[in-house]
Amino acid sequence: MSNGPTSQTILVVGGGIAGITAAVETAETGYDVILLEKSPALGGRVTRFSRYFPKLCHPTCGLEINYQRIRKNPRIKVITMARVESLSGQAGDYSVSVKTQPRYVNEKCTACGDCAKATDVEVSNDFNYGMDKVSAAYLPHEHAYPQRYVIAPEVIGTPDAEKIRDACRYGAVDLEETESVFELKVGAVIWATGWKPYDASKITPYSYDLSPGHHQQRGDGTPCCTRWANPGQDSAALQRGASQTGRIDPVRRIPRYKSSSLLLTDLLPRLDETCGLCARAV
Ligand SMILES: Cc1cc2nc3c(=O)[nH]c(=O)nc-3n(C[C@H](O)[C@H](O)[C@H](O)COP(=O)(O)OP(=O)(O)OC[C@H]3O[C@@H](n4cnc5c(N)ncnc54)[C@H](O)[C@@H]3O)c2cc1C
Ligand code: SF4
Repeated sequence: MSNGPTSQTILVVGGGIAGITAAVETAETGYDVILLEKSPALGGRVTRFSRYFPKLCHPTCGLEINYQRIRKNPRIKVITMARVESLSGQAGDYSVSVKTQPRYVNEKCTACGDCAKATDVEVSNDFNYGMDKVSAAYLPHEHAYPQRYVIAPEVIGTPDAEKIRDACRYGAVDLEETESVFELKVGAVIWATGWKPYDASKITPYSYDLSPGHHQQRGDGTPCCTRWANPGQDSAALQRGASQTGRIDPVRRIPRYKSSSLLLTDLLPRLDETCGLCARAV
């Protein structure tokens, strides 16, 4: 008798586009899949882009198609705010210890937003790289999957936490939630934890380190150019790192070349979306 796998379940660690794709495609071939994501929502870095190459469509479009595949497939279980603590065993038979952080909001959440209106406390907006603030009761971003609010740990134990809980008509706020650790038995693990941005200050043509207003990507659906290009200042949005391609086109040299900067500034009133008009115009 052969020693087959003791579990056919597949664990995917990392809920970016790579992990999502691995999870849906594996589940669609008939395997049970557990998709672990350390942040409160899936999508990884792709969710923060404005237009996605090659079709230059909004990335939430492609992500939403995948979210629907997840919603429709009972074989996929998504666990957010979760990390692998330890892993042991061998192919076909792994024991994985997983730790989850409290979200303080359960699956009854309808994403109505009443909790956010109940508090004035704001916390750093992780989704937008900490460049602005959000309510201490927040949806990670507009297209977040799952569409479920998070209560920032900063307010837990304060009167604002109670205000937030009392504002919820659905009994979705659970201030007693704590960290938890549990064991999974899986037959295989797909590690899809993604990438970290290159240090843009090393790409000298960008003068990234000289202009504190620089940002590589936009994060909330507003146009990158209108948001970050600041008339009269030597700064502009850089939507795509040249580190991978080595290609630097004129609009990316804006921090250095005043004439381009003025040109971008002139174009601003016409930019009602992230259309790339500025890049084509120089
Ligand atoms: C500026 C820029 C523009 C780009 N534009 C395009 C484009 O137009 N078209 C295109 O095809 N590609 C583009 N790319 C490339 C694209 O971003 C990557 O191919 C894509 O993000 C890779 O997805 P990923 O799932 O591997 O990683 P990520 O998006 O990094 O996702 C990894 C996920 O894993 C989670 N994670 C990390 N560690 C753990 C852990 N220990 N436990 C649990 N979860 C964890 C993270 O929270 C994250 O959600 C661009 C890249 C850059 C930098
Ligand atoms: S936690 Fe409650 S109040 Fe907040 S968005 Fe969810 S359902 Fe609405």
